[in-house]
Amino acid sequence: MLVCRNGYADSLTLEGRLVGDRCVTVTVSEGVITQIEPNGSSCAVLAPAFVDPHVHLRTPGREDEETIASGTAAAAAGGYCAILAMPNTDPVVDSATVLHSLRATARREAVIPVGFMAAISKGMAGEDLAELGELGDAGAAAFTDDGRPVASAALLRRALQYAEVTARPLALHCEEPSLSRAGHMHEGVVSAELGIGGWPSLAESIMVERDLAVAAHEARPLHLMHLSARGSVTALRRAQAAGVEATAEVTPHHLVLTDEAVRSLDPNTKMNPPLGSASDREALVGALRDGTISCIATDHAPHSREEKDVPFEAAPFGVTGLETAFAALHTHLVAPGLISLETLLGRMSAGPARAFGLPEPQLEVGVRANLVLLDLETEWTVTEGGFRSRSANSWLLGQKLRGRVVKTVADGRVVFG
Ligand SMILES: [Zn+2]
Ligand SMILES: [Zn+2]
Repeated sequence: MLVCRNGYADSLTLEGRLVGDRCVTVTVSEGVITQIEPNGSSCAVLAPAFVDPHVHLRTPGREDEETIASGTAAAAAGGYCAILAMPNTDPVVDSATVLHSLRATARREAVIPVGFMAAISKGMAGEDLAELGELGDAGAAAFTDDGRPVASAALLRRALQYAEVTARPLALHCEEPSLSRAGHMHEGVVSAELGIGGWPSLAESIMVERDLAVAAHEARPLHLMHLSARGSVTALRRAQAAGVEATAEVTPHHLVLTDEAVRSLDPNTKMNPPLGSASDREALVGALRDGTISCIATDHAPHSREEKDVPFEAAPFGVTGLETAFAALHTHLVAPGLISLETLLGRMSAGPARAFGLPEPQLEVGVRANLVLLDLETEWTVTEGGFRSRSANSWLLGQKLRGRVVKTVADGRVVFG
């Protein structure tokens, strides 16, 4: 399912501190962890590398914004050993031909293993089901119409039935378009004060409720993308308690920011779904902590400077995130004590791997090395020139963060550091 540039496996040793404070030396021979020995002196943290289930690589169609080469290099710099790319490209990934050509390019260019999701509906138009069986056979990692909701409940139901045949997960962007249509930001006090069209959090939670109801009816699993609202968390928690096999993801920006950030009118605070209220953020952090939300996903969405350098209401939705996710969450969630380092690392690695049936990165003898070395003390400033991504539309520009990725090993090879 995942593909990557061919290359030989590395033999190396890594020294680091495991979560729980034990220092070790890890020996990797020809890409496989062969020895983990005690060692008393390390201070960098060594952990299973990260998995991002939600990345926009903009290829094919907008290679000026990102390519498979630049996007996977950015992911490697962010500590990731595997990512899943979204199909809302030009053309849309809704045929085996487009998928084959992407996978061929990834075999030449991808710095780390990458999987490609395919569309649920033809052309992502929300009307006819794409050829899910054929796309599954061609190596689709999962199915999604991300960027748009599956507005028709009947189409979602049929997609869930087909997903059973393809044995691939369905990932859903939850948005009721009749409620979100006029919105550029979260509907609340801030949007009223700024006089910007609001997008009620109900636009997400009502669709989350519907999607979970359809999944319950079909007794099929599903994955909810980039949750942003307290109401969505409540619905998810209730469905999970009732036995629905639902997993969910949350982004670094929804975990750190609220709609107060939009007062800057910086187009890099404009995302879909929009940044919510303090109450929404509190619910998301709580759900991440207790495992209701098991995945952190960046929703890395590169945009060119020309696209984003416009007034707030004219700007497209989306921000980059691969290269700043760990540092942003370490600085804003772990350092102030909102979640533990162990929880953060689990939600960036094992959580997404399990939700999408990908190999789970593990620090164990006998497995392929997928490891990240993290310096928790160094402070650094996010700058426009510091990205491997082709785009710099980050909400963190100019901010000082604490903690950074020192080295990444993906599929047995050093890919960063
Ligand atoms: Zn989306
Ligand atoms: Zn997305």
